[in-house]
Amino acid sequence: MQNASLQSITESASLVKLKQKKGLFIDFDDTIVDYDISANKALEDILKDQNIAPERFEFIKRDYEKINNSLWPKLEKGEMTIDQIRMKRFEILIANHALSGVPLKMDRDYLDAFVIHTKTDDMLHEKLVRIREKGLKISILTNGIKDVQHRRVERNGLLPLIDLLVTSEDIGKAKPAPDMFFHALDKLQLKKTEVLMIGDSLHSDIKGSQNAGIESVLVLNGRNFEDLRETALDCLPDYTSDSLNSFLDDFLNII
Ligand SMILES: [Mg+2]
Repeated sequence: MQNASLQSITESASLVKLKQKKGLFIDFDDTIVDYDISANKALEDILKDQNIAPERFEFIKRDYEKINNSLWPKLEKGEMTIDQIRMKRFEILIANHALSGVPLKMDRDYLDAFVIHTKTDDMLHEKLVRIREKGLKISILTNGIKDVQHRRVERNGLLPLIDLLVTSEDIGKAKPAPDMFFHALDKLQLKKTEVLMIGDSLHSDIKGSQNAGIESVLVLNGRNFEDLRETALDCLPDYTSDSLNSFLDDFLNII
């Protein structure tokens, strides 16, 4: 194994440590739900409302993605607020493609559709219930718009199955800053060593866990770990798993 720090979940030293965990922190987008599926379907709904020819969808969707990705880093840098980004992304999209909508309304419609198209795996619910029956606490830590993330979690019936939902908007700082992790530890009265963070992003979830001094699991979701680690040598997880579901299966066998 090239990465000496990466432990196998089933190794005896890991089993001892994992058995002592009293809480799980779980990322939401691309860990619990597939972000791209919801975002794609939501944008298609908007374009259909605009009577855009379906053959133009892909081109416009790619442009939206580019615009959106270019704006969010401005939040981190303090150059734009969330509300400004929400408005601006559709302002640019409308201008680029001669659409007829109003940016603010389009953003609201988009987010409503995004909430509706957010779907969790049914098997997850039962696993979360079993984990909490074992006495562990569960918190979702998610970078994103507070109201939207709450609606997405609630709509999927997850709110009663977790102890805490923390968004970056609640705290004012996004992962990889350790603030969201510290907030959840404090609220749930847990120590760093008692918690495990599970997420798909090396740069936000895994780096954030490291910044907070918390062990982490990277969910691969079909990606190759050796390819990923090349791009992020300063933020390697303690464990990897194929998916959240498969990690929770292993974890339930251990605790
Ligand atoms: Mg994620």
